Amino acid sequence: MSFARVIVDVPTMQTDRGFDYLIPLQWKGLVKPGMRVVVPFGPRKVQGFVVSIHEETEAKKIKSIDQLLDPAPILNDELLKVGEWLTETTLCYKITAFQAMLPAALKAKYKKEIIVSEGKDKEVPSEILRIFEQRRALPWEDVSGSSLFSKIQKEIVKGTLEVLYVVNQKTKKRTVKQIKPSVSKEDIKSYIETLTNRAKKQKQILSFFYERYEPVLLKDLLAKIEGTPSTVQALVKKGLLTEEEIEVYRDPYENRSFQKTQALPLTAEQEKAITPILSSIEKNEHQVFLMYGVTGSGKTEVYLQSIEQVLKNGKEAIVLVPEISLTPQMVHRFKSRFGSKVAVLHSGLSTGEKYDEWRKIYRKEVQLVVGARSAIFAPFQNIGIIIIDEEHESSYKQEENPRYHAKDVAIFRAKEHGCPVVLGSATPTLESFARAQKGVYTLLPLRERVNNRPLPSVEICDMREELRNGNRSMFSTHLLEKLTERLEKGEQSVLFLNKRGYSSFVMCRDCGYVMQCPHCDISLTYHRSEQKMKCHYCGYETNMPRHCPECDSDYIRFFGTGTQRVEEELTKVLPEARVIRMDVDTTNRKGAHEALLKKFGNKEADILLGTQMIAKGLDFPDVTLVGVLAADTSLRIPDFRASEKTFQLLTQVSGRAGRHEKPGEVVIQTYAPEHYSIQLAMEQDFDKFYQKEMIMRKLHAYPPFYYLVLITVSDEEILKVVDVSEKIASFMKSKLSNEAQILGPVASPIPRINDRYRYHCMIKYKRESALFDSLRTVLHHYQKEISQTSLTISIDVNPMMLM
Ligand code: ADP
Ligand code: ZN
Ligand code: ZN
Repeated sequence: MSFARVIVDVPTMQTDRGFDYLIPLQWKGLVKPGMRVVVPFGPRKVQGFVVSIHEETEAKKIKSIDQLLDPAPILNDELLKVGEWLTETTLCYKITAFQAMLPAALKAKYKKEIIVSEGKDKEVPSEILRIFEQRRALPWEDVSGSSLFSKIQKEIVKGTLEVLYVVNQKTKKRTVKQIKPSVSKEDIKSYIETLTNRAKKQKQILSFFYERYEPVLLKDLLAKIEGTPSTVQALVKKGLLTEEEIEVYRDPYENRSFQKTQALPLTAEQEKAITPILSSIEKNEHQVFLMYGVTGSGKTEVYLQSIEQVLKNGKEAIVLVPEISLTPQMVHRFKSRFGSKVAVLHSGLSTGEKYDEWRKIYRKEVQLVVGARSAIFAPFQNIGIIIIDEEHESSYKQEENPRYHAKDVAIFRAKEHGCPVVLGSATPTLESFARAQKGVYTLLPLRERVNNRPLPSVEICDMREELRNGNRSMFSTHLLEKLTERLEKGEQSVLFLNKRGYSSFVMCRDCGYVMQCPHCDISLTYHRSEQKMKCHYCGYETNMPRHCPECDSDYIRFFGTGTQRVEEELTKVLPEARVIRMDVDTTNRKGAHEALLKKFGNKEADILLGTQMIAKGLDFPDVTLVGVLAADTSLRIPDFRASEKTFQLLTQVSGRAGRHEKPGEVVIQTYAPEHYSIQLAMEQDFDKFYQKEMIMRKLHAYPPFYYLVLITVSDEEILKVVDVSEKIASFMKSKLSNEAQILGPVASPIPRINDRYRYHCMIKYKRESALFDSLRTVLHHYQKEISQTSLTISIDVNPMMLM
């Protein structure tokens, strides 16, 4: 007898382990680790993942597997290992880890069907082909109970049959009509001879198939013979031709043609950077590289040529880019070099499109995936390189369970595959740069821009000074002059509004009242287009008040600078300028982002105005001026990374100017011109910033000198929160060495969200062997309260956000 150990889809502490189930005789030898099954669990039936197969079990009462959901493993052995490792290092449930690695289509409700793979009908045994009869697809239920099931499964493994997950009506597979001859060539010929001259079109179609005896798309056929579908239908009715639906992938990029690009001859610096990467690829040797290169230094070209080598060796590559810079321009660079070998995964795709892209990877139809964070789980089996562009981006950390960082997953997988990881950035995180300094990572510097184009010149405008001189506008005189100059010369400008840590709030000018969310301790944000006040944490919304609720004054106004306000003011001061505004409001429609960029690229506008969204990845030859409004807002976030974030942001934005022949200029407007992260961003001196910031981090015992764990306790009852967080803090103190520091508990920077109070404690440590076991003990201790009351305890290992 064989038993399968199953991780069931019941995310609680008590059920976070394998349960053994009997494998029914008819599935003996068919059940493999990495397959999903349905098993009885208490009174219910639940889904689960098979993690191992055993000949014996210690379980007393043993039940049988109810259903097999996958004919072949959907998680390979290596990904199962990744799941185990995620569970241990992020303290999440096993089931949560496994599910995080799959596309949403495989988690949602779906219908399953079996089809004959395209062009494989000759290879499928006739007894199986027979059960398809005239049907294109068989429902999975019909198949899994059938006596032919094990044979069908063999065909699926061979690839002649295929399982499809039909997500729902809206995101069904796309199909097109195809026509093929259903009689022999000779029969076609003799039929043509019977046709009279009046049946001219029919004759034409049959002659076409006589010459080219193979299937053709209906639309292509009609185009060729200039006929109508009814002519074709007539021949189908006569039994001479067959019409069928064939599946096509939803390809969000299908309508674009990609001109193939060739590898560029590398510069000396690029050559020096790529050599150790290529050698690591050739030797199948795991190594982490930190490619530290200013914007425009040609990092992407080095990625492309490294990938080329990997693909030549028959292996696969994963490239992560931040969601926000997964722009059409970026995708274009990969698609035009590697064509159809590329899958693209990002959150703009529908569930169905994501599933299609995942399936191309799973079926080894592509060798390269370019995607945002979760693409790190691409089910490749033979990875030759993993590249993480803009490695400093905080979006690589998932802010919900499993709280993984894609960089850690990349390094774990690359070790398993014996391949290099390349981290790239113009402004690496202090953590990565410190590791490179210590030799844990190999530093690959690119100090020059390609063709020695100079970095743009950067100036700082002190906005306090402007105010003193009587300028109340949001543009300094200097910036306005430069914008005007660009308009006259027909060059383009980018205006960047730093909205991080900043929002437009409503304030009473008489009494200073600021409108707060009644459920969260945070001010409401004004949304101009709907004239509503909204809470960005819980979604609460209310109308904009006419009078101050405190003092009844009607001098209540919204405060702050939204992109809409900037746009309005721009049209006042520069009425002749054509402005494109890019923010969440103008880009929420699918494809809008791309359309706006295209417009700007076609020079249908003079100024591109936007938020974070425009800080990265854009590369327009005629942009010669970048203006930054409100550079210091991100300095005010209560987070030890605030300076680092500000420096990174300003450096990134500045890099948008003068990337081509024309030299670029940058104007940074700020109320805190003396701050070192603004000063050093102006000088574009990462090395100095690194040294300065390292001193601050050491002084305050923050990463990279210490590791952090953030424990956040929340509940509706504030006393409960205080009590539990105090107990946790003192328990952790008793378990850890004197070298660890435990701060708090204190109220979180946002002390209440959605009527739930929040307290946290922060553990700073260097080496603590008892840490993870003690954290698990905490979770175990409170498991009952967590599952039965509204208490939650979240543990964030290496947090990126301290809110
Ligand atoms: P980064 O990724 O470091 O910002 P890119 O790879 O985008 O830099 O390179 C900047 C520009 O220089 C791009 O337009 C790119 O096509 C060009 N480029 C890169 N490498 C070379 C090279 N070896 N020769 C000529 N042009 C290059
Ligand atoms: Zn008031
Ligand atoms: Zn709220």
